[in-house]
Amino acid sequence: MKHRAWFQCIDPECGETYDIFEVVYRCRKCTELLEVVHDEARLKRTSPDSWKTLFDGRIRSTQWPYGSGVWCRKEMVLPQLSDENIVSMYEGGSNLFWAERFGREIGLPDLWVKQCGNSHTGSFKDLGMSVLVSVVKQMRSQGVDIPAVACASTGDTSAALAAYCAAAEIPSIVLLPRNKVSVAQLVQPISNGAHVLSLDTDFDGCMATVQELTQRENVYLANSMNSLRIEGQKTVGMEIVQQFDWQVPDTIIIPGGNLGNVSALGKGFLMMETLGIIDRRPRIVVAQAEHANPLYLASKNGFREFRPVQAQTTLASAIQIGNPVSYKKAVRILQAFDGIVEQASEQELADASARADRTGMFNCPHTGVALAVLLKLLARGTIARQERVVVISTAHGLKFADQKARYHQQAIEGITGTYANAPIELPNDIERVRETLRRLIEQEQEGSPKAAVP
Ligand SMILES: *Cc1c(COP(=O)(O)O)cnc(C)c1O
Ligand SMILES: [Zn+2]
Repeated sequence: MKHRAWFQCIDPECGETYDIFEVVYRCRKCTELLEVVHDEARLKRTSPDSWKTLFDGRIRSTQWPYGSGVWCRKEMVLPQLSDENIVSMYEGGSNLFWAERFGREIGLPDLWVKQCGNSHTGSFKDLGMSVLVSVVKQMRSQGVDIPAVACASTGDTSAALAAYCAAAEIPSIVLLPRNKVSVAQLVQPISNGAHVLSLDTDFDGCMATVQELTQRENVYLANSMNSLRIEGQKTVGMEIVQQFDWQVPDTIIIPGGNLGNVSALGKGFLMMETLGIIDRRPRIVVAQAEHANPLYLASKNGFREFRPVQAQTTLASAIQIGNPVSYKKAVRILQAFDGIVEQASEQELADASARADRTGMFNCPHTGVALAVLLKLLARGTIARQERVVVISTAHGLKFADQKARYHQQAIEGITGTYANAPIELPNDIERVRETLRRLIEQEQEGSPKAAVP
């Protein structure tokens, strides 16, 4: 008997199942979300220690495709894929580092940061896109008519889609709202040869169009209601535990927008628990931007009622979402993991990101949201100082270089650059250079506001 996975409706009353190589995004019977379900009885025939040995032997090796942080766990991700159809660029395997200085400064000595941005296209979106594009490649190889894969996005999803499709020689389509994305957000899919369509609408308009397109044209939908992406993303928690020598941290903080990633994080932990690889669960904290906080608001009423919000502009642009697709999945995970939802204002997220940068990091604004929430929960005593805490850093800070530069130039409207460090312009004159540096170093030693951590 081989390992096997299938799609299943998340509504237990319905429970309809679909083949993993069927083109289906939502339950056709009841329109509810789908999830990938694995044959757990088959997986349990391997002992926890055998799984650990297997994964330890594979990860970061050059044994195709098992070196990837996703595919070293192939049996638990998508066992029915044949190795030649896997589209992988060695995603995952990102560093989990001890944030010694920042942790010391905030009074949390066992703080770790999982750098998911140190991946092929600079965000965790690679983990899920590798799985989705691999399934498309296998379907195409079996003669299924899928001329292209499409998504509506302004950032990391389109970058990952374009890269993985380019590697697999599959056409990709990216729908972007015209004049609402920066050059930086455009350049990745353009470089990878995606068909980039700039539409005269906003993100929601692009989303509606891509959904209709994928219904009428056989074009495959890569947005996050597609639960194949969750299977790749769920490996992040598995990788963290493996990196801690199979120990579970106390708390994990993750920024949330469409809420696919927190759902995936929890799904990975539940699977490890079912298979006996771990015997306890971490607490999961979702960090939202105050400008896009529907999950936070729902948590205030114990998740009894959900109301979408009109998301306001936020520096944390990848989580600027008012009506998250994976809300139901995320609530289930929060309830199973003693979950907490907290929010951060624009000022708080920008300062937390910049303050941590001062200790050697280079954070994206979403990581800033997670760090700001960490500071709040620590101050409140919700997170205790002896806990082992992991902050999930979702993207590489270099993707947001423009916005970070504006913070340091005090050029973001409504935000004070508390930790701003603007370059000093001088004539090329050795005496002026010496005198300026002397002053700056003295200030730093006296603990001026610029250098000090309040
Ligand atoms: C997509 C994304 C998120 C949000 O993940 P969701 O699954 O939508 O909650 C956070 N940070 C970055 C950098 C992202 O690209
Ligand atoms: Zn259903």
